[in-house]
Amino acid sequence: FAINMDQLILKHELGRGNYGTVKMVLHRPTNVEMAMKEIRLELDSTRLNGILMELDILHRAISPHIVEFYGAFFVESCVYYCMEYMDGGSLASLCCFPNGNVSLPPSLSSSPGSAWTSSPAPINDEHLARIASSMTRGLAFLKDELGVMHRDVKPTNVLVNRKGQVKLCDFGVSGQLEKSIARTNVGCQSYMAPERIKGSSPSHSNVDDSFTSYTVSADIWSLGLSIVEIARGKYPYPPETYENVFAQLSAIVDGEAPGLPDDDEESPEEGMDGILGVDYKRSRRRWSPEARHWVSRCLVKKAEERASYAELLAHPWIQMDVKREVDMAGWVARAVEWRDRGRRGNGHPRYD
Ligand code: ADP
Repeated sequence: FAINMDQLILKHELGRGNYGTVKMVLHRPTNVEMAMKEIRLELDSTRLNGILMELDILHRAISPHIVEFYGAFFVESCVYYCMEYMDGGSLASLCCFPNGNVSLPPSLSSSPGSAWTSSPAPINDEHLARIASSMTRGLAFLKDELGVMHRDVKPTNVLVNRKGQVKLCDFGVSGQLEKSIARTNVGCQSYMAPERIKGSSPSHSNVDDSFTSYTVSADIWSLGLSIVEIARGKYPYPPETYENVFAQLSAIVDGEAPGLPDDDEESPEEGMDGILGVDYKRSRRRWSPEARHWVSRCLVKKAEERASYAELLAHPWIQMDVKREVDMAGWVARAVEWRDRGRRGNGHPRYD
């Protein structure tokens, strides 16, 4: 069925991205709550039908690791894209801090310099493995079943729900849509693989418009970088600054690839258990050798030497995850509580 604006009741805003806002809506004919993303386009009406045709492929993107697509329509110079509502929001909002500016809610910040101040995200090796496994399966599905790359793998494009499911959204199925997006703000954190940065034109330092000069292994770099960011709680490269816009890109191209952070020496403070759940204390920031190896196979600078999806899925870290019960629903519930505590004003600025 085709969705249009008249069928929707607009509710609150869920978040803001680089290209527009995402709102919660109710689709009246089906009574389904949806997330509706508004993407402002540089107007070129001849492209609209082409874009809708290209987006049609999304109806075939049915996988437990991909956010479901319900339909898209145009109003004036915007495309509205309706998708499955994910009630936990993005992994960036749960685990990552913009620019690495981390501060804790007052109740927790009494011990400056403790391990907590560097990364308050309550995540352990088992949760990380489940996230990595879901993301890899989602990406492999896109490649094998739809023949597309994602092209924009990063923590803001990984959504979770209270059932504990982890799903990818925002993949680049439409080259025409990509070309038409009014880019007001290019992100200041690049997840592009070194070969994509090297292949893009210098006048668009951060915008990769060479749609063909790299392959699916570029997504695998971005996957590894996202896992590192989720584990650390912050983006691992220096921020792009006004004074030196190329510092970040040259660190990606010329510097050593990042990995999972070293294990914490200190054990977290007493008193955290009650707030964040018992398992948090025991397993805080101890990354297994398997996790470290898996990440290092994604973050290989030479594209041709990087792991494939088959290798990543057969890896012991992911195979251990397959055999294990992991309480992702419990983790999502705690992480949402943690994030919303921050949003209520006794915390810190977060991603949406
Ligand atoms: P970006 O441009 O940074 O990729 P988006 O525009 O895709 O960001 O989304 C902005 C924010 O809106 C997300 O970080 C997330 O918090 C929220 N959001 C996006 N899609 C959904 C969804 N399907 N369900 C719930 N929240 C969503």
